[in-house]
Amino acid sequence: MDIRQWKAKYLALDMIEDYEVAKNVIVEFKECFKNKEAIIYGAGVVGQEVYNLFLELGVKVATIVDKNYRNCKFEKCEVSATNTIKLLNQANKYEVFLAVGEFREKEMLDDFNKLGTVFQNPHFALRIQKILQSAICYNKACNDQEIYLPNCYECVVFENECGALQKYAQKLNHFTGKKTNASKNFKTVGYILGQVCTLSCKCCNESVPYVSKIMKKFVKKDTVLKDIEKVAASCEFLGIVELVGGEPLLHPELDKILQGIMQIENVGIIHIFTSGTVVPNEEIIKLLENPRIVIYVSNYGDTIPEKLQNNILETKQLLKRKGVLHKEGNCTSWMDFSTYDYIKESDEELKNRFKNCYLGDCHRLYEGYLYRCSHHYAGTILDIFKEENDRISIHAYTQEELAVKLELFESAETAEACKFCKMPFDAEIIGVAEQMEK
Ligand code: SF4
Ligand code: SF4
Repeated sequence: MDIRQWKAKYLALDMIEDYEVAKNVIVEFKECFKNKEAIIYGAGVVGQEVYNLFLELGVKVATIVDKNYRNCKFEKCEVSATNTIKLLNQANKYEVFLAVGEFREKEMLDDFNKLGTVFQNPHFALRIQKILQSAICYNKACNDQEIYLPNCYECVVFENECGALQKYAQKLNHFTGKKTNASKNFKTVGYILGQVCTLSCKCCNESVPYVSKIMKKFVKKDTVLKDIEKVAASCEFLGIVELVGGEPLLHPELDKILQGIMQIENVGIIHIFTSGTVVPNEEIIKLLENPRIVIYVSNYGDTIPEKLQNNILETKQLLKRKGVLHKEGNCTSWMDFSTYDYIKESDEELKNRFKNCYLGDCHRLYEGYLYRCSHHYAGTILDIFKEENDRISIHAYTQEELAVKLELFESAETAEACKFCKMPFDAEIIGVAEQMEK
């Protein structure tokens, strides 16, 4: 098999959810490189991940090159100038992979073509990387091998859609059940535990600083659990429950919330999103030392007060010391989607935006209502979205009715809130966690 045949066979796969397919994807990809080597064009995040992936698969990488090779920091391998590819002038021996984000693929192809090499048909790496990564993880999940969950936060396969992660989450919770009359495709939900926070970020996803002080509160534990139980009861398996805020670690009943969620039979993994500014106490740390809980520490820098920066350091050290699964964020910019102006566009354009929005699946749950995403939730609690629009009042339905609603919600091609949102193409790029006066 050669790489073109491999692509024809596997590139259209949406998600890998079959062990035999996962195995064949890997075996046949390796076969393509029995007598060949890879050249990676682009040494940014995508290029480095592709390099690591090829390394894991035993695919030999002849070189990794980049236009800005002098500024590339890649510890595993030296990055060379792009024109060094010309020295590798055997078209039969190498395959070139253009490694860049989806929106810049065309630009990179033009750059590559201008170089004038013997390689006529380079491959876009991103899609190949997605398929390979899914296959590797699906194999692991089926063979009782560990998947290091913190890696999922920055994985090219969007974690909420990942079949391997869902499978692994079922294994972690020893879930083997099969539910009927339940939603198959609704697999993840994020609970907004309240609007209380240590920070006041100008472009907060959940618009926390813009909620009036009298409305700020923690959602009661019983409400949180009742809501999550209700959604879980209508799903075949709810692989991921995210806890978001405000600051989840400020919630006075977080321990009981975590214990309650862990007891729901068909819930898999809990993700907690924290700024790290609240150092977890001993009781919470004990609960966090659990393979089904993963923490994302957003790890903000000097835009926040020094005292809070010190707390972040302390939190990170503590999580490390206690072996808590966690990921330290290294986000260098945010996208500001906190505006709510009406966007005039065709139905097709709207659908296209929704399809490309990575937040379209982030499903926020708050006090008995399910929202499409944090923009939808924030617009509603700020009273900007006046109508009921397409949020779901989860307790207004029976378990079976809600299952049908969730399935429809999941298969929707757009959402009302998107008409008032600049994501994903036009939202302004801004600095991380810029603080406002509290
Ligand atoms: S999201 Fe996680 S489980 Fe899924 S492919 Fe990525 S690293 Fe693997
Ligand atoms: S485009 Fe739609 S799904 Fe994406 S953040 Fe905006 S409202 Fe949410």
